[in-house]
Amino acid sequence: MVSISEFTSKLRNRELTAVEAVSVYLTAIEKSSLNTFITPTPLLALAAAKEMDAKLARGESVGALAGVPLAVKDIIVTRGIRSTGASRILDTYVPPYDATVVERLLAEGAIILGKTNCDEFAMGASGENSGYGPTRNPWDVSCVPGGSSSGSAAAVAAGECLVALGTDTGGSVRQPAAFCGVVGLKPTYGRVSRWGLMAMTSSFDQAGPLTRSVEDAARMLKVMAGHDERDSTSSREPVPDYVAELQGEVQGLRLGVPKEFFADGLEPDIRQAVETAITKLKELGVTIVEVSLPSMPYALAAYYVICPAEVSANLARYDGIRFGSRQEATTLYDLYAKTRGALLGAEVRRRIMLGTYVLSSGYYEAYYRKAQQARRAIRQDFARVFEQVDALVAPTTPTAAFALGSKADDPLAMYLADVYTVPVNIAGLPALSVPCGFTKQGLPIGLQLMGPAWSEARLLRIAHHYEQATPWHERLPVRQAGQPGL
Ligand code: GLN
Repeated sequence: MVSISEFTSKLRNRELTAVEAVSVYLTAIEKSSLNTFITPTPLLALAAAKEMDAKLARGESVGALAGVPLAVKDIIVTRGIRSTGASRILDTYVPPYDATVVERLLAEGAIILGKTNCDEFAMGASGENSGYGPTRNPWDVSCVPGGSSSGSAAAVAAGECLVALGTDTGGSVRQPAAFCGVVGLKPTYGRVSRWGLMAMTSSFDQAGPLTRSVEDAARMLKVMAGHDERDSTSSREPVPDYVAELQGEVQGLRLGVPKEFFADGLEPDIRQAVETAITKLKELGVTIVEVSLPSMPYALAAYYVICPAEVSANLARYDGIRFGSRQEATTLYDLYAKTRGALLGAEVRRRIMLGTYVLSSGYYEAYYRKAQQARRAIRQDFARVFEQVDALVAPTTPTAAFALGSKADDPLAMYLADVYTVPVNIAGLPALSVPCGFTKQGLPIGLQLMGPAWSEARLLRIAHHYEQATPWHERLPVRQAGQPGL
């Protein structure tokens, strides 16, 4: 297993060239049967690797992520590289600019291997809502990898990239990270610029890293975070040195265990793994206290009102005129209906309709306003517990990866996959998922840490100490036959 620091030091010592490294990953992508990438970019990646090798040969300074092979979720725009958001309506869209997060990673020397598959416009929890076919879980190809950042999580787990970018609106970085046995971090709202993210739920969306280790997540966040003039919701809060802060103490920290996250419906294997993880954390010197977040039962319902409401506004631009491919029609109404009917998937259309409904006069008070009241109550719950504890520890998901197709026709069952991840998005708080074991069937389990605003350094530190004291990150999915690896 290679970490960013091992990788970049090999490159600097010339034990490995960027071209060699990138070629290994490109071969893995080519041989993959997981459908992780919508648009691999082998020629661009090799050209960037050549340039990196030339720079190193000339002894020029290279960035903190020199040569690091990166996969980018297709909902994040990339200059000159097709960016579909996994929607057929954007099948031919080639953006003229890079998202800020991409720009920052490229400036530090990262090399893009391609654009990863995801649920259409990030709506989903399994990867099955993609307009480009479902992604498969590298631990068991009959299972989903989670979603919506399905391709990014599966690619990291399968060794098809070193690190990846995802976005998390209600769990889309943490949930697939848990299902694929990798680390996934969702930053505080405003920590990372949203410029260049195709907006889903603008008041929840944040980009986050998916990596093999906590240290790599810290290295990625350090580059991604910080104020951006182009996103007025990005914060001026100073960016700490997340990597240096991994080394601090965890002894004496107070961790809360919210009892609402251990309700009925939590798979026994997951409950057991998380309880064992809590015991491990105690051994590392943290104090565990039981806490309660009484508004939690409203979180999922509030999410599925606010999210569709914002989706209905944000997706209005994909009408075949301003953005997107167009179907032939003779009247304006037909043009909208045919274009959106043919080129947007069922889940996306469902949310647009639901969102339009909850915002319409007569229903606004009953649904949208109520959901915003629940949002305030949830924020207050978190604020209250963070007066008593430094962070919260809980499962990331109620179940491990489920079988492909098993929830595809049941939207409500699918929505339940996010029951433990949406609360922090509603409150705008940071959280991460770190591997904490396996089910009896050998599927990965994720441990979730949640904290107050701007506490990423603390969450990463706790997760790093936990990771170093446990063997979970060492296990890799069986490589597909013939697949090379670094
Ligand atoms: N699964 C959730 C949804 O469908 C969350 C998606 C996300 O975080 N982008 O909305």
